[in-house]
Amino acid sequence: MTNAGTNNATTSSSTAEARVVDAVPTGLFIGGSWRPAASGRTLTVDDPATGKALCEVADAGPEDGAEALAAAVAAQAAFAAMPPRDRGEILRSAYQVIMDRIDDLALLMTLEMGKPLAESRGEVAYAAEFFRWFAEEAVRIDGGYAVAPNGASRFLVQKQPVGVSLLITPWNFPMAMGTRKIGPAIAAGCAMVMKPAQQTPLSMHALAAILAEVGLPDGVLNLVTTSDAGGVMEPLIRDGRARKLSFTGSTAVGKKLLEQCSEKVLRTSMELGGNAPFLVFDDADLDKAVEGAMLAKMRNMGEACTAANRFLVQRGVAEEFARRLTERMGALVVGRGTDDGVQVGPLVDAKGRDKVVDLVRDAVDRGATVHVGGEPGDGPGYFYRPTVLSGVPLEARLTSEEIFGPVAAITVFDEEDEALTAANDTEFGLVSYLYTENITRALRVSERLEAGMIGLNTGLVSNPAAPFGGIKESGLGREGGSVGIEEFLETKYVAIGFGG
Ligand code: NAP
Repeated sequence: MTNAGTNNATTSSSTAEARVVDAVPTGLFIGGSWRPAASGRTLTVDDPATGKALCEVADAGPEDGAEALAAAVAAQAAFAAMPPRDRGEILRSAYQVIMDRIDDLALLMTLEMGKPLAESRGEVAYAAEFFRWFAEEAVRIDGGYAVAPNGASRFLVQKQPVGVSLLITPWNFPMAMGTRKIGPAIAAGCAMVMKPAQQTPLSMHALAAILAEVGLPDGVLNLVTTSDAGGVMEPLIRDGRARKLSFTGSTAVGKKLLEQCSEKVLRTSMELGGNAPFLVFDDADLDKAVEGAMLAKMRNMGEACTAANRFLVQRGVAEEFARRLTERMGALVVGRGTDDGVQVGPLVDAKGRDKVVDLVRDAVDRGATVHVGGEPGDGPGYFYRPTVLSGVPLEARLTSEEIFGPVAAITVFDEEDEALTAANDTEFGLVSYLYTENITRALRVSERLEAGMIGLNTGLVSNPAAPFGGIKESGLGREGGSVGIEEFLETKYVAIGFGG
């Protein structure tokens, strides 16, 4: 067990696995240095495919959090004054280093999170792309100059960094959820305290090391991994020196954090939970719909906020859609994400797997039919078999709760209005998927779906160049796209007296 520096991954089985885990700095990163937690405590990071420990990392307490905030506060003014081009070059260099090391970073991610290597490579590339995108945005921060309507004064409008920002990310996309916040924060000139999920901190530790390597000034990014998220972050939120919280995670935790932010009126970005409907109309191209369903359902083993949670399929194609989806889901290879040919890894932990077991049991008890799967996979990891259910009644729990697992739940509808009512019957509003070849229907239904994002004849909406985010209880603000940097900028207006 080590507190700082790199660790010795005695439990990793293969040489490559041990090498990538050994290379990760395991301390807290504060003020440009890696160091142990003040308490000396560590927490264990497990491999969800085996349930075995990968390594120990420093476990921050409130005193470490306070130091991280102080380091960010100390770094803020100089970083805000750094030329935008220089901030952009740091991001561009980090993008390149990440891409150069994509294989090792993907292996590390698979080890701590479970997803198959090909998916981890996809996430690492997606994560890096946020840095490339925001490297380009850093030099496009604009302002304005205008004549007042009565001509008596002038308006100068300028954008300034919001200031020290607190970032909190979930375990399901261990690197991309971080770069989606760190990228625009660096581009805008904000120093940060980042708290990754305790289950998957290693990708973020590796990322912090890369940013330091490419010249991010000391204190701009401070990393506090902890088993006491509330105990470490709440004092920082209530402190008042940090001016921004950007959170990705569950709606329940997001609501609690919004309350805490109200005390000092922090700016907030909230990327919260989802309950995506996936609508397939009789006039859909079924080949495309099944392909899109596989992507929208099975990306990340279903552990995605954008995962299709409810398949609403029009009666004319419902049987054929279920048949084809069952065939595809039944053919998927489940196993440890590091193994060749594996397409579906384990769920993140026993709690996540048991929730899927309960939700499927509830649906079956209420009359749903299991076409394939319907039970956990073989241990010792937290596997669940790819599953297709049909005849799922709208009262089943899995139509209102995030499944976060490889389970496709199909409900049949007859009329467009009926599908829209069911689709919108949720407190969430992150993404909705829609398959139809009828352009008028596509536009009409897109307008009426209550979601921040629509996948029209596609099962993938995430793109660093597009505004990602939800409405209703799925969140506040957008990440990525040309609006992504705005989340880390304040608008200042200077009124200029003009004569008289
Ligand atoms: P979670 O339990 O809300 O945790 C998210 C993060 O918040 C983790 O880092 C967690 O720390 C931390 N946290 C927990 N309680 C906290 C507290 N009291 N104060 C401060 N931080 C706290 O969510 P999760 O289970 O990790 O992630 C899954 C959820 O994230 C799903 O609902 C999913 O839909 C959502 N998500 C949304 C998006 C989006 O863009 N909308 C993207 C990905 C995921 P620990 O590590 O200690 O738990």
